[in-house]
Amino acid sequence: MKIQVIGGSFGGLTAAFELKRHLGKKHEISLVCDQDHFVFIPSLPWLCMGWVKEKDLVLDLKKILESKGIKFIHSEAKNIDPEKRIVSTSDGELAYDYLVIATGAALNFDAVPGLNPKDGFTYSIFMLEYAVEANKAWERFLKDPGPVVIGAPQGASCFGPAYELAFMIDTELRRRKMRHSVPITFVTSEPYLSHMGIGGVGKSRRAIEDSFQERDIKSITNAEIKEITKEEIRLKDGIILKHEFSMIVPPFRGVDAIINSPGLGNPKGFVPADEFYRHPKYPEIFTVGVAMALAPPESTPVPTGVPKTGFMTEHMAKIAAKNIVASIKGEGLETHSLDVFCVLDEGNKATFMYASPTLPPRNKVFLREMKLAHYFKKLFERYFLWKMRYGLTRFP
Ligand SMILES: Cc1cc2nc3c(=O)[nH]c(=O)nc-3n(C[C@H](O)[C@H](O)[C@H](O)COP(=O)(O)OP(=O)(O)OC[C@H]3O[C@@H](n4cnc5c(N)ncnc54)[C@H](O)[C@@H]3O)c2cc1C
Repeated sequence: MKIQVIGGSFGGLTAAFELKRHLGKKHEISLVCDQDHFVFIPSLPWLCMGWVKEKDLVLDLKKILESKGIKFIHSEAKNIDPEKRIVSTSDGELAYDYLVIATGAALNFDAVPGLNPKDGFTYSIFMLEYAVEANKAWERFLKDPGPVVIGAPQGASCFGPAYELAFMIDTELRRRKMRHSVPITFVTSEPYLSHMGIGGVGKSRRAIEDSFQERDIKSITNAEIKEITKEEIRLKDGIILKHEFSMIVPPFRGVDAIINSPGLGNPKGFVPADEFYRHPKYPEIFTVGVAMALAPPESTPVPTGVPKTGFMTEHMAKIAAKNIVASIKGEGLETHSLDVFCVLDEGNKATFMYASPTLPPRNKVFLREMKLAHYFKKLFERYFLWKMRYGLTRFP
């Protein structure tokens, strides 16, 4: 059997290593990715602050995959023909018996005029190269500070990194005794602080509101951003925020490869899946991580989306890989509770958040702010990269 994985990040890499571990040499596993390296994305806010180096966050995909006997194809998937079971790439066609889609999302910088970091008005931490530029801008900002705006506009779904960056900026400015000269505003489409697109996590609303108050971070919720210019962030209700340094989360849409594959994704380009991560119409196609369609738990006055964390993605990929193995062997499929676990880093402390299931009403919720959690997050980065370097996805 030929098993094709698309995407070389949390979802794709985990699925490929797990498939290899379960199936050995009997079946052919290959991974196609438009990038030749894996990036530990959760540390990009640290990279922006200059607390970690770019080279310490990347792994060479060819090296780590081929040492485990998984073929690596450095190419962009252009579209998928689910009837013929073919992935067309920029370098030719790839046939498959089973397919894992782990393409994440495209960053929709067109959602707000001036949002694209290439315009030079605002910075991003959503891709390695953007985070490198954001760090250069941050270094310049420290020499000539002014107002900071961090936020997430209408349609955003990945709110966590924005909160982290706002807290980290506050921490770093206090360390440098510069905080008094920098007003920080957090502007978000969420109906309340730390809603995060999932109705909050336990008492997270009160916890984040308290932290913002203690740290003098002003907030505007239910916000829609109309336009970003070099000097101003203009909201739809007329509020104008001056900014010298800003990072605004881009809304996500599905990648072109899915949008260009009629019948595969929803109108936004995300791929539907059942509780086994199988496509409802094409059971040989599995989808994990950010590429998967997941409906919000409630509608919010200003539209928000549901985030999918690295932890969730890894878990989805393990279950999807098991289910492909079970399908090949003619065994029963497995499902699980889609939980969320994340560490929201503040630069000098961090908050553990756990919710089971991700969307309310829930069976379990855990939320605790701890100094040690900040160091745990750093340790986790090193552990995760070590685990991926050797394909040891069997470990948690
Ligand atoms: C700044 C930031 C901080 C975060 N912090 C945390 C955190 O602290 N904890 C946490 O749990 N999660 C965090 N997340 C979320 C986490 O990064 C994502 O959940 C995770 O990256 C999702 O993995 P994925 O494999 O689904 O998609 P992605 O990581 O988006 O990877 C998609 C992969 O597919 C490839 N690809 C895309 N299109 C194609 C194509 N057409 N052909 C071939 N390859 C393609 C891409 O190059 C990439 O390798 C953070 C996210 C961001 C942006």
